[in-house]
Amino acid sequence: MSRAKLVAGIAAGIVALEGAFSLAATHDKSSYLLRPPGVQSEGDFRSRCIACGKCIEACPYRALDVAGPMQGALSGTPCIDAREQACRLCSDYPCVAVCPTGAIRDVADKHDPRMGYAKIDENVCIAYQGYRCEVCYRVCPLIDEAITIDFQQLENDGIHTKFVPQINRDICTGCGLCVQRCAVSEPHVPIRIVTLAEQEAV
Ligand code: SF4
Ligand code: SF4
Ligand code: SF4
Repeated sequence: MSRAKLVAGIAAGIVALEGAFSLAATHDKSSYLLRPPGVQSEGDFRSRCIACGKCIEACPYRALDVAGPMQGALSGTPCIDAREQACRLCSDYPCVAVCPTGAIRDVADKHDPRMGYAKIDENVCIAYQGYRCEVCYRVCPLIDEAITIDFQQLENDGIHTKFVPQINRDICTGCGLCVQRCAVSEPHVPIRIVTLAEQEAV
């Protein structure tokens, strides 16, 4: 094969690969995958999801990734990297509407999804160190329900108050918007989603 044909062939291969992954980025960061809204349990999801990708195509925010090859049998299934792009809890849940198998189902209101819950590391969150932040609180679609601000006296300080976020696990949907918008940079982001898979593994 001539050099020109070889280069053209490689270029065509790259274009084809880019096309295959153009719907969403792949996701290999965690074995406890954050699933789309409407997941009932990780086990139920795995038994029903056929990795057709319809939910991924339907998401207008491109919040749904494809689980990558490092996920083994789970590769190709939908998941969310909340730090990259969180779920917006769409009012009409287009991802759920197109699912042909019921792997994601039974959500109507923004309170309904149970993808997980947010967890804050108080040793790292700057609000707990006495700085004003409240970004996670302000962006939450369920502000003053899933997340509230608690007022705590600063240690060894009779004047100033800390404004610290607190998660209500019973209401938090696990949408991840607080994680995406957290003001603290990697690698010490103080808030994360404890996924259903992680809870079931405990
Ligand atoms: S609810 Fe909306 S933003 Fe969330 S995954 Fe479904 S389509 Fe995407
Ligand atoms: S539409 Fe349903 S079956 Fe298809 S990949 Fe999404 S969750 Fe799985
Ligand atoms: S994950 Fe964060 S933004 Fe989403 S409902 Fe829970 S506290 Fe609110």
